Parts: sequence; C-alpha cells; structure tokens
Amino acid sequence: MGFLIPSRQARPSDDPIFALNAEAKARAQAGDRVVNATVGALLDDEGRIAVLDGVVETLRENSPQVGAGYAPISGSPDFLRGVIDDLCGRSSAAKWATAAATPGGTGALHLAIVNFLAAGEALLTTSYFWGPYKTLADESERKLRTFSMFDRDRRLDVDDFARQLDSVLSDQGRALVLLNSPCHNPTGYSFDRAEWHAIREVIDAASSRGPITVCLDVAYARFGAQPLDGVVEEMAQLLPKALVLFAWSASKTFLQYGLRVGALVAMHPDDDERRRIASALSYSCRGTWSNVNAGGMAALARVLGEADRKARVDKERAACVDLLARRVARWNELATQAKLVYPRYDGGFFTTVFTADAMGVAEALKADGIFVVPQSDALRIALCSVAERDVPRLVESLARHVKRS
Ligand code: PLP
Repeated sequence: MGFLIPSRQARPSDDPIFALNAEAKARAQAGDRVVNATVGALLDDEGRIAVLDGVVETLRENSPQVGAGYAPISGSPDFLRGVIDDLCGRSSAAKWATAAATPGGTGALHLAIVNFLAAGEALLTTSYFWGPYKTLADESERKLRTFSMFDRDRRLDVDDFARQLDSVLSDQGRALVLLNSPCHNPTGYSFDRAEWHAIREVIDAASSRGPITVCLDVAYARFGAQPLDGVVEEMAQLLPKALVLFAWSASKTFLQYGLRVGALVAMHPDDDERRRIASALSYSCRGTWSNVNAGGMAALARVLGEADRKARVDKERAACVDLLARRVARWNELATQAKLVYPRYDGGFFTTVFTADAMGVAEALKADGIFVVPQSDALRIALCSVAERDVPRLVESLARHVKRS
C-alpha cells in the first residue's frame, strides 16, 4: 500500500551535490589526496569553513532571552531595515521597499515563487541554473522554463530572453523572471552593465502584456567585482511597470550558511500595492516556517546597523573576497593557457567548464582525486572550496580529461 501521494512517490532523497561532497570527504579521510571542488561554502586554504569573527562575536553577545523568544512573523523591523539599506540604501527607490525575513535565500525564493505565480505556472530563468530552483518550483506545484543563457559570443543571450518571455506571457499572462547575478551559480558569470540594461529594456517592452515580476537572486552580491548599486538603479527604472524583488541571503553575505537567515525585498511605488504584498509575504511566512531565527536576526541587525561593527565585518569580508580573488586570478591564468572553455569569470564561488560527456569526465576526474559537479554539458567547479595551491592540479587534470571527451 502506498501512503505517499503519487507526485511524491519517486522523489530522489539526497541532493546530488551533498552526496558528491560526502564521497569526496570519505576519500580524503581514507588518506587520498583529494581536491574537493563541490562545496558551495568558502573554505580557507586549510580546508576550514571561513567565518567573519565580528559576526560570530555579535551572535555570542545575544542574551539567551533574545535567541529563545519568537521573532515577529515577517522578521524583526531593525533587521529588515538593515537588509533594505544594505541592498538599496543609496537608491532613491529604497523608500518603496518592503521586506520579509526568510530562512536563507532559499526561503526568499520560495516566497517569490508562491506569491507571484499561480499553481501550474512556470518561472523563467537561465538555461544554466542552481538546481534547487527546480526543486523549489516542483515542491510548490510550479514549473520552470528557461531561456538560452549564452549566445555564440558567450554573452547573455538577451534575444532568447525576449523570445521566451514573450512565450511565457502568451501562455500564462504573467511572468516571474528569476535572475542570478553577480557570480551566477553554477557558471560564475556576472551580467555587465550593458546586459542589465538590455534585460531592463526587454522587460519594459513586454510589461504591457501582463504583470512581470523580476526576482534578482543576489545571494553572491558581496563577492561580485562591481557593487550592486548600478543594478539596483537600472532595475528600479522598471517601477511601477514591473515589480522588482531581491532575494537576499546571510549565508554568503555573512558566511553564515547554517544560521538560516535571509530576506525577500519587494519594491513597488504604490503604497496600497506594497501593503498588499507585505501582507501576502507575511501570510506565507506564517503558513510555511512561522518565523525566522530570532538570535540570527538580532545579531545581523546590529552588524548591519552599528557603524563600527559594520566596518569591522566589511573589512573581514574583504579579506575573504581577496582570498577568493587570488584563486580566481590563478584559475583564469592557468585555465586560459590550458584552453578550457568557460564563461567570463571575474569573481564568485563557482565557475563552469563546458564539455560534452560531463558525467564521464567527472567520473574520470574522481580517479585523480578531483571532485566537481557534473551538469548536462558542463562541470561546476567550486573554487570557493579549493586552496590556491591546488588550482594548478585541478586545471591540469581537467585539461587532460576534458580534451579526451
Ligand atoms: N541562490 C543561489 C544561486 C545559491 O547558490 C544559494 C546557495 O547556495 C542560494 C540562493 C541560497 O542559499 P541559502 O538558502 O543558504 O541562503
């Protein structure tokens, strides 16, 4: 007798990336020399998770009562104000922002999907995308459609974006566009100013055909080569023709993946519409996770809101961004020499090498002790978890196997 409803009976149990990471760790424990480029967390060159001491100390300073108590359903107001300022404090559109706290950026994406698409409708994202986008859509009975991410010059394929947006609007009369930049997961690509401008023009032109919500997944914003301000300014020009959302995450911003704190920020100039959006988000919070980690929000509100604390943490983060930048520079130097094919990469946790037979190459790499994440025609390389000294070995092994495929 099957107790699970039909749509849940064949769910895969483990996230494939977590499974690969476990395999790599087991090999390392058994004494193999392993380069584990699967982990989506920043590790130092000794393989320990990098932390920001200013954040950790602030968390420790929480009184027991703060951590033990319930937080407001939509999140603590000082935390939400801090997030809005962090994202768009320098923009005149900041006054049009409302926000709800979420368990990580994942929770923010969930709120966007269930509030701006009806059941059965599809979100639109790039053809390379972070796997959980599909899981989040499946889990809430929504679908996922894609546009081709790169054109022949390996730049954002804005023409296909326009075509697919048009098609989604014809099919369902509304659209939720989910874009992950800077430091796109898995490709590492960051849209440049011209690409953001072109995206804005496409959405602007299509906006008369139905409500378009554009959700910017800015989980890696603090690791991008450029600050987010230009993107906020560009996208704010869509208001009020389109709704602009930001999925913000403390996981990468503050290197606190386990804290499970994030937020969805929505920008709309009309007060009534903004109030309706705030109520809908709050209702979803109550009906999904109730409320977010109170101690986490209290500490991050202080880190975001107290000038000295913020300056200290920004400095500590800058050292981590530098650590990653050195790996990225070494990668770019060696991978270019080795003629690996990958998109423009100027910062961020991941890059992606294009190859036919990604599964076969990933298996062959394992024999060399190299663990990467295979996608349909590409390999995701998490440089965030690879020491700079291991980059030459990683590139050499990739070059050998990718060429053979
Ligand atoms: N968006 C992208 C593209 C990610 O890679 C991640 C985490 O890996 C997230 C959002 C959200 O992560 P979290 O739920 O830990 O904040």
